[in-house]
Amino acid sequence: MRQPLAQLPAELESAIRRIAQTPHLLLALDFDGTMAPIVEHAEDARPLPRTAAALAALSALEGTTTALVSGRALGSLRMVAAPPAPTLLVGSHGAETWLGPDSPPLVLTAEQSATLELARAAVAQATSLYKGTVAEDKPAGVALHYRLASKADGHAAVELVMEALSGNPAIHISTGKKVLEISVIKANKGQSLVALREYTQATATLFAGDDVTDEHGFEVLRPGDVGIKVGKSQTHAEFRIPKPQDLPMVLELLLAARTNGRPHTT
Ligand SMILES: [Mg+2]
Repeated sequence: MRQPLAQLPAELESAIRRIAQTPHLLLALDFDGTMAPIVEHAEDARPLPRTAAALAALSALEGTTTALVSGRALGSLRMVAAPPAPTLLVGSHGAETWLGPDSPPLVLTAEQSATLELARAAVAQATSLYKGTVAEDKPAGVALHYRLASKADGHAAVELVMEALSGNPAIHISTGKKVLEISVIKANKGQSLVALREYTQATATLFAGDDVTDEHGFEVLRPGDVGIKVGKSQTHAEFRIPKPQDLPMVLELLLAARTNGRPHTT
C-alpha cells in the first residue's frame, strides 16, 4: 500500500495556514473514508488515532467548533467515532442533527413512518434475494449496501429497490460508494453545512469528505473556506488528499497554526 504523503501540496498548506487565522472556525469532517479507512463491516470502522487526537485537541480550542457530518445514523456514528464531547453531530446525511444535550430527538410524522415501512420492505426483499447485500436501518431511512455482493447481484438489488420506490415523491434516494440511500426526509450534507455555519456563526469552514454525497458540502463552501476531497474521483472541492491516512497532517498543521498565540480552553 502506498505510503501517506510526505508533505501536503503547497497550495493546501497555505490555505490551512490562512484559514487557521479566522476568528471562528467550523471544522466539519465526514467519517467513513475520511477520518476512518473504509472497512468491509461498517461497525468495525474506527478513526485513525492521529486524526482522533488532532480532532480532540482542535475541539478544545477557543473559537473552534468541530462537527462530524456523516451518512451514518447518529447512534452508529457515536459508536464508531467516539467523538470528543463538544463535537456537533450530523447523521443520516442531514436527517439527524445533534447540537448538544438539548437537541430534540428526531420524530417522524405518521405519513413518514408509513413511507419508511415501504422502503424497509423493498430493501428487505432485495437483501433476501441477493447475496452480499445488507440493509442498514436508520431513524429516517434505510440504506442498501452492496459492497460485498457480486457486481450482478448488487446491480439487481439496486434495480429492484429503485423500481419499487423511485416513483414515490415522499421517498428521497441518493447513491454513494456501493450504497443506495433511501430517506423519508429530504436532506443533504450541503444543507447541513449551511445550518451548522449559521448555528455556530462560523467565519470560515473547513470541510473534508470522500464520497459523492460530500459533493453537496463542497458546493456550499464560500471564498475563504477550504474543501478537501479525500480520494481520486471528480470533485467540486478545491483541494485533494489521496487517503484518510493523509488527513492527520492536515489537522495537525491546522492545530499548530491555530494554537500559535491563541489561548486554550480546557
Ligand atoms: Mg465518507
